[in-house]
Amino acid sequence: MPELECPVCGGRLQIPEDSLPGELFEHQDCGANLEYFQDEKGRPALKVAEEVAEDWGQ
Ligand SMILES: [Zn+2]
Repeated sequence: MPELECPVCGGRLQIPEDSLPGELFEHQDCGANLEYFQDEKGRPALKVAEEVAEDWGQ
């Protein structure tokens, strides 16, 4: 089970082995919404999930 660093608080977050890029996780320690992804070298990492902005159009 990979253990990744939370980009918000620097704490540790364990994610399931079978996680897919784009999956969202909540870090229990700080409450951040994090998105799992793989960097250009294929290493697993976490980034802050974008807020889903509702686009109503104009
Ligand atoms: Zn955190």
